[in-house]
Amino acid sequence: MNIPEADLKDDPASISAVPPGSNFIRNIVEEDNRTGKWKGRVETRFPPEPNGYLHIGHAKSICLNFGLAHDYNGICHLRFDDTNPEKEEQEYVDSIIDSVRWLGFDWGKHLHYASDYFDELFEFAEYLINRGKAYVDSLTVEEIRSLRGTLTEAGTNSPYRERTIAENLDLFRRMKAGEFADGAHVLRVKIDMTSPNINLRDPVIYRIRRVHHHRTGDKWCIYPMYDYTHCISDALEKITHSLCTLEFEDHRPLYDWILDQLKDVVPCHPQQIEFARLNLAYAVMSKRKLIELVEGDFVSGWDDPRMNTLAGLRRRGYTPESIRLFAERIGVSKADSWIDMGVLEDCLREDLNERAPRRIAVLEPLKVVIDNYPENGEEECLAPNHPQKPEWGKRSIALSKTIYIERGDFMETPSKGYFRLSPGAEVRLRYAYIVKCMNVVKNASEEIVEIHCTYDPGTKSGTEGAEKRKVKGNIHWLSAKYAEKAEVRLYDRLFDHAHPDAGGRDYKTYLNPNSKKIITAYVEPSLNQVQPEDRFQFERHGYFVADREDTEKGKPVFNRAVTMRDSWVKNA
Ligand code: ATP
Ligand code: MG
Repeated sequence: MNIPEADLKDDPASISAVPPGSNFIRNIVEEDNRTGKWKGRVETRFPPEPNGYLHIGHAKSICLNFGLAHDYNGICHLRFDDTNPEKEEQEYVDSIIDSVRWLGFDWGKHLHYASDYFDELFEFAEYLINRGKAYVDSLTVEEIRSLRGTLTEAGTNSPYRERTIAENLDLFRRMKAGEFADGAHVLRVKIDMTSPNINLRDPVIYRIRRVHHHRTGDKWCIYPMYDYTHCISDALEKITHSLCTLEFEDHRPLYDWILDQLKDVVPCHPQQIEFARLNLAYAVMSKRKLIELVEGDFVSGWDDPRMNTLAGLRRRGYTPESIRLFAERIGVSKADSWIDMGVLEDCLREDLNERAPRRIAVLEPLKVVIDNYPENGEEECLAPNHPQKPEWGKRSIALSKTIYIERGDFMETPSKGYFRLSPGAEVRLRYAYIVKCMNVVKNASEEIVEIHCTYDPGTKSGTEGAEKRKVKGNIHWLSAKYAEKAEVRLYDRLFDHAHPDAGGRDYKTYLNPNSKKIITAYVEPSLNQVQPEDRFQFERHGYFVADREDTEKGKPVFNRAVTMRDSWVKNA
């Protein structure tokens, strides 16, 4: 087969082939570049918490952050926000690194961990204490919560709020030294218990937790909170534009307050900008729920091809290009919205339509005998590897007397508008001849087991005059003698409801019982030699990938990535 290498490879550079659409964040960056706010510097970061695998929502953020840096000659960091050791694991770090790289992005030397800053974060906390901006509180978590007030009522000062600087310093150091039990004290910043923004009511910035950390081990028994850690990590890395999802909008005043207090000791004050998260219909997006699906054995693992994790999408057959195209297409805005799964699937169809060689697979075989074909006759039929790319050449498919067609391409009593095979009707066998159905053979239980046809020798595709006789149906087939068996996994959407978790519903009750079906299909013999992750269009069926885990030499396993058309759109 003669397919240019470049057409088959994942091409990270092609991100620049898609002209970036304008959006409000780009407008901010361009304005900053115009005014010289950051002296032309654009430095972003993607800051996952390593408490699960990345999902398609993260891909939106990754493409935005890395894409922005790429387009403005900047840098994007990959930073693990690892301040919550209970839920974090090295396995998640590894999978995140793998997924971001697979998507085609590169952080160069800018791989960071918030835990790398634990020493600085501790020093800055002492700095805040020394300036009367932080205090050790000895209330319990419940007491702190009950004094916090509500959206309509102001909070109340803790009785420990006015401890002296010396006492606070002493207690904080002893917290670090492990002198107190978990939960005995916390460190809070001193802002305003009456602020209308609850995030500013003296938030906790350190708590005591004797938990092993996946990187710092048992060095620390106090851990900084996310809001405190995040802005300082951004500042230490001299991030210019700190992009996050809308739920952090109310945290921005805290982000700014902390950096304002530390302006003499941290080198920069990044701008936090919020954008709307991706909500994808027919999916659940939170890591907590994805973990439940994995741990409850509702799926085969994080990379189950039905999961909308990047590992799952990859195994399903998605390409990095298709996901980057999706991110580009959905755009970035401040307005929350729902994106249909069909948009994601269309991006894959578009990408693979260009790049996937065509092959034939008969998924549900029905035996056909061509009665007037010579008993041991055999001939080559030529099929293009790609209908729009003659330079990809043709492959040869052998025709013989007995072939398989799809069961669905025959109907004993055809419904109106059915143009495929039925008794007395004619169809073209793709790349071969016109055949006519002569009779049907059934078994004792009245099931059709075989059909008999005759062929018209003057109609071979590609020969002179072949196209003179027109028939409406054009079906695929494989020679029974040469077809090879292969396992094919027919995947469909994991949920059969567009909003499985809306309104606090138990999304697990909307699992689609038909989301996975394993069959043995017949495929072209050359498909025996595929490599894991080779992708094909199985003509008329959709796009399939050789499973990256289970494909062995001479024994391929194919996953259906996406059907040719969206069958979920209800046509009126
Ligand atoms: P989840 O709720 O799924 O666990 P998260 O926001 O807690 O997601 P993080 O690891 O903290 O996950 O996210 C890393 C980055 O990805 C953050 O900047 C976050 O805003 C962004 N992100 C997470 N989910 C989405 C989404 N659905 N759409 C866009 N960006 C997202
Ligand atoms: Mg989070």
